[in-house]
Amino acid sequence: MRKALRPLLIALAVGTVALACVKVPYTGRRQFNLVPDSIMQGLGASTYQSMLADKVVVNSGTNNAILSRVGGRISKVANKPDFAWEYSLIQEDTLNAWCLPGGKIGFYTGILPVLRNESGMAFVMGHEVGHATARHGSERLSQNLAMVGGLGALELVLAGKTKLTQEQRAIVLGAIGVGAQVGVILPFSRAHESEADVIGLMYMANAGYPPQESIVVWDRMAAAAGGGGAPAFLSTHPPHEKRQAVLRDWMDNAEKRFARNKLSGDMLAPLWTGPVPTSGASKGGGTTTSGTKGGGTTTPTGGGTTSDEPRTSGGNR
Ligand SMILES: [Zn+2]
Repeated sequence: MRKALRPLLIALAVGTVALACVKVPYTGRRQFNLVPDSIMQGLGASTYQSMLADKVVVNSGTNNAILSRVGGRISKVANKPDFAWEYSLIQEDTLNAWCLPGGKIGFYTGILPVLRNESGMAFVMGHEVGHATARHGSERLSQNLAMVGGLGALELVLAGKTKLTQEQRAIVLGAIGVGAQVGVILPFSRAHESEADVIGLMYMANAGYPPQESIVVWDRMAAAAGGGGAPAFLSTHPPHEKRQAVLRDWMDNAEKRFARNKLSGDMLAPLWTGPVPTSGASKGGGTTTSGTKGGGTTTPTGGGTTSDEPRTSGGNR
């Protein structure tokens, strides 16, 4: 029996290697990846619903139109036909934005003054989309796959046949970058952050936005952090001087792309100049996070956004 099984095992091993070896856009880094895109996108779609369930989503108006316009351009250059892109502007003074696997994007109104203009939004969106297209969530989940019961368990969850335990759910949410929702802080690594910066820079330039604005966005983000309460967006990232240095390394490349695709009109015209929320990011409990704030708090609008998410306080990696 053992002998007969061997070819099958070898075939399985080869198949696994083929699945595991994927290249990251632009940086060309090879990554170890065990969770298929179909599963990640299913997790992204279901998480998106729960992320918006108790939120006030801005469905009309200028800001919503701008988000959709920038989203349309970034998604076009990201070139992921299997993504089902969606963009939601969430009414909340939180300094954050995210893109879930499969292209589900959330921006909080609190981050708009830091973005300031359409180019700033394009870079930050490019960065978040970069986490998704570079499969950072999948890569992180691969490292914890056994803890959530393996691929078979995830398939059953997506089919609605079983549920994850609270702990398992926290692992999944943490892996795809929104773990703070359940109090689990699992920042993307510095390598992932720098990689998302490079991809975001290329996306914004390919979409026709001036790439130099990426560097200025991080200055504004750092200034927003100066007030004490570290913005979620910044605090888990590499120091902003360091990430600006990486961006400068790629700037010549980006400028060439920009020159070929430059949009008409002033893409640096200030659109949002209001005050930057100083405490928006620390709502999740004052700890550093790359995800959104924890549930259980109310928005400044008092919109009844009490979350029913279970929270594991002080959760950490
Ligand atoms: Zn990031």
